[in-house]
Amino acid sequence: MSRILIIEDEQSIAELERDYLEINGHEVDIENSGDKGLQRAISTDYDLIILDLMLPKVDGFEICRRIRSEKDIPILMVSAKKEDIDKIRGLGLGADDYIIKPFSPGELVARVKAHLARYERLMGKRETKNDEVRIRGLMIDKTARRVFVNDKEVIFTTKEFDLLTFLAMNPNRVFSKDQLFDHLWGMDSMGEIATVTVHIRKLREKIEQDPSNPQYIETIWGAGYRFRI
Ligand code: CA
Repeated sequence: MSRILIIEDEQSIAELERDYLEINGHEVDIENSGDKGLQRAISTDYDLIILDLMLPKVDGFEICRRIRSEKDIPILMVSAKKEDIDKIRGLGLGADDYIIKPFSPGELVARVKAHLARYERLMGKRETKNDEVRIRGLMIDKTARRVFVNDKEVIFTTKEFDLLTFLAMNPNRVFSKDQLFDHLWGMDSMGEIATVTVHIRKLREKIEQDPSNPQYIETIWGAGYRFRI
């Protein structure tokens, strides 16, 4: 599945685009302002960006330039004015394609499909896909050992990362503190069982919206912990 970001200030157009892309099997996020769109485009891994030209705060020209300075992903620019196309070309912003409003959703889907296919061929030669675990707003990239909570990277120590990954890979199972300690620290470790409690607390502080009311790592009284999906 491909992840697409739509940066578009007209919500009805954004939703129409999203609906058609979702029907075609893509995962779609929408941002309505230029500044937020730019921030999200830079901080999150998307496979393609659909970028409206006229946006509040930061316009499409600037966003295209900034994304292109950091990423190679396809950028499909959308404009209501034919004159803008010449401007986009003239500025050499690195946009991959242009589409004029109003356009048919079918045309948009076809263009998106073509650019994704081209980009995948390009990327396929360069790298293999990382091994990732996604549970609601949590994304664990096992290959790069990185964790993202609601698209923001959170830094974990080695043991915290190992504990989180172990729990997330074994969801809906209860593990006692002893089991977790043995698994993560080993039988002959000098540590104490209490270190498990400390690590669970740290994980919650990092991944839970409200650590006192955890949605991921539940405490099962008298038994241990369970990762909920
Ligand atoms: Ca606009």
